[in-house]
Amino acid sequence: MKIALVTGGSRGIGRSICVKLAEAGHHVIINYHSRKDEAEVTLKMVQEKGGTGELLAFDVSRQNEVESALNGWIEGHKGEYISVLVNNAGIRKDALVMWMKDDEWNDVINTNLNSFLFITRILIKDMLIHKSGRIVSVVSLSGIKGLPGQANYSAAKAGVIGATKALAQEVAKKNVTVNAVAPGFIRTDMTKDMDESQIKAMIPMNRFGTPEEVAEAVGFLVSEKASYITGNVINVNGGLYT
Ligand code: NDP
Repeated sequence: MKIALVTGGSRGIGRSICVKLAEAGHHVIINYHSRKDEAEVTLKMVQEKGGTGELLAFDVSRQNEVESALNGWIEGHKGEYISVLVNNAGIRKDALVMWMKDDEWNDVINTNLNSFLFITRILIKDMLIHKSGRIVSVVSLSGIKGLPGQANYSAAKAGVIGATKALAQEVAKKNVTVNAVAPGFIRTDMTKDMDESQIKAMIPMNRFGTPEEVAEAVGFLVSEKASYITGNVINVNGGLYT
C-alpha cells in the first residue's frame, strides 16, 4: 500500500485530498497544526471510505518540529516510505504592502513557502532511492497573477511554483514527479470571510469551487495516469485567469 502525507489535512481542501487519496488506496498520514478535533473527523471520513490513516501533528512553518515529526515517523517505520507528498497546509494574512507587518510577511512565507523545503528535502530521499514518488503542492491563482492585499501570499505561492519547476527537473530521471495545483476561490474556512455573492460575478463559472473539485486534480497528478506530467501547474478556478 502506498503511503501519502497530506499537510493541513484537518480541514478544507486538505481534508478532501485525504479522502480522495484513501479512495485511491493510499494509507493517509493526516497532518494538522492545532485542530486535532477536525483531523479526527478527517480520519473518520477516510475510514468510512474503507481506507486507513493516522494523525501526525506538526507546525509546517517550524523546521525543528517538521524534522522531529518526520524523522520520528521514518525511524518508526523501517521498510516503509512515504511515496506521495501533498504540500497543502497554508494560511493568508492579507494587508497592503504599505501597512504590512513583519510578522504578516514572515508567517505567510514560513507556512506557505519555507515548509516546502523543510518537508520535501526529508521525504525526497526515499522517493529517489525507490525511484518512485509524487509531490503535489497546493498553490494559488494569487501566486500566478498576484492579488492586491496579498503580496506576502502571492510571493509565497509564486515561490512554490518556481521551486516545483526546478525540483521537477532535478528528480525526473528517478521517476519522481513534482507538480502543483492552483485553485481559484474555493469554499473553505479560508474564504469564509469573503463575500461570495460579490466575488462570483468575476468568475466565468459564476460560483466558488468546492474542495472536492481541487482534490480531483490532486488525485489525478498522484495517480499512475499522470506518469509523464511533471513541472506543471493545473489551474482549478472556474475559468478565472488574469
Ligand atoms: P483552511 O483554512 O480551510 O485549512 C487550512 C489547513 O492548513 C488546516 O488543515 C490547518 O490545520 C492547516 N495549517 C495551517 N497552518 C498550518 C501549519 N503551520 N502547520 C500545519 N498545518 C497548518 O484552508 P484551505 O483548505 O482553503 O487551503 C488549503 C490550501 O489551499 C492552502 O495552501 C491555501 O493557500 C490553498 N488555497 C486555498 C484557496 C481557497 O479559496 N480556499 C484558494 C487557493 C489556494 P489546523 O486545522 O490544525 O489549523
